[in-house]
Amino acid sequence: MKLLITGGTGYIGSHTVVELLSLGHDVVIVDNLVNSSELVLSRIEKITGKMPQFVKADICDRDALNDIFSTYKPEAVVHFAGLKAVGESNDIPLSYYHNNVTGSVVLFEVMAAHNVKNLVFSSSATVYGENNVSPLDETMATSATNPYGRTKLMIEEILFDLAKSDSDWSIINLRYFNPIGAHQSGLIGEDPNDIPNNLLPYVSQVAIGRLAQLQVFGDDYNTPDGTGVRDYIHVVDLALGHIKALETLATLSGCQAINLGTGNGTSVLQIVDGFSHISGTKVPFKIVPRRAGDIATVYANAALAKDVLGWQAERNLTEMLEDTWRWQSTNPQGYTE
Ligand code: NAD
Ligand code: UDP
Repeated sequence: MKLLITGGTGYIGSHTVVELLSLGHDVVIVDNLVNSSELVLSRIEKITGKMPQFVKADICDRDALNDIFSTYKPEAVVHFAGLKAVGESNDIPLSYYHNNVTGSVVLFEVMAAHNVKNLVFSSSATVYGENNVSPLDETMATSATNPYGRTKLMIEEILFDLAKSDSDWSIINLRYFNPIGAHQSGLIGEDPNDIPNNLLPYVSQVAIGRLAQLQVFGDDYNTPDGTGVRDYIHVVDLALGHIKALETLATLSGCQAINLGTGNGTSVLQIVDGFSHISGTKVPFKIVPRRAGDIATVYANAALAKDVLGWQAERNLTEMLEDTWRWQSTNPQGYTE
């Protein structure tokens, strides 16, 4: 299949491109590199033996998107491009709404104009808000607690409306839980621009010595050890979920939301212990107050993905931590020449 991958040089996008190229799909990436490096492309080539086609452009740029659709004629789109830092979204909400929501609407308009109506969208478990009790399933009410989450919710709702208006659209909103890990080669992985917001990149940068100490946000939650519990999923499993979603679009009309998670919960202290063991470095941490907006426990009901996509996560936590450490220890400064 000929595919357009927005945000394809990013963390999840690059792992998905690797799996797509390995299966023989034809891929063009559009990314403005606001949160990724062009060096990803040569790393993808090293892994797959194929250099993906790449256009440096912003998804808000309608002319650039029109050119891409005219030139490459993709049959389907996987839409990863977006800004994703929750804290930053509170500080610069308009940038988030413009980039994520306006950018998505421009993309969908250009897709419609070129009669490309097959789409897989990167949504998030954040759309379950704070009022549902895990395991979270797709029938539960959605809500958002910050501008980033609201952009995901808005885009999902736009896509449900779009599919209702025109039955030619086939759309899957994949609600990711907590992607971690890296490709087994150690050649691609997560490389945050600034100080990481998420737990795993923070822990691995402490282990490699770039950061002094992890702050554990609260140990007084109603969880087995008092620290927050999340559903961590290997990024390669997540990438494979996109392949299954793309295959499923052919038999699906309308718009459907599907969780991509493992169904298992792991606490912050379990991650710290596991990472210390695997890296051979005791990760120093201190307990600090809870982070505003955090929920005690979040994990998926992963049954729908199995039923509809024929997909389930295969990689366990040890593999997730080992692969994270291989990436971090062989690329201590991330993507550099
Ligand atoms: P990432 O930042 O590594 O990748 C996103 C890519 O999009 C980057 O390469 C960035 O340069 C690009 N981009 C951003 N705005 C753009 C624009 N206007 N035009 C063109 N390119 C643009 O993030 P990721 O972790 O790979 O996440 C991919 C998607 O999955 C995002 O939409 C994110 O919100 C969503 N998601 C991520 C997580 C997570 O924990 N990583 C969880 C749930 C959902
Ligand atoms: N967390 C932490 N210290 C950090 C980053 C995260 O203790 O520096 C905790 C956070 O409170 C949550 C878990 O780790 O319980 C996962 O946080 P992350 O931001 O990675 O994912 P999210 O909360 O968005 O699911």
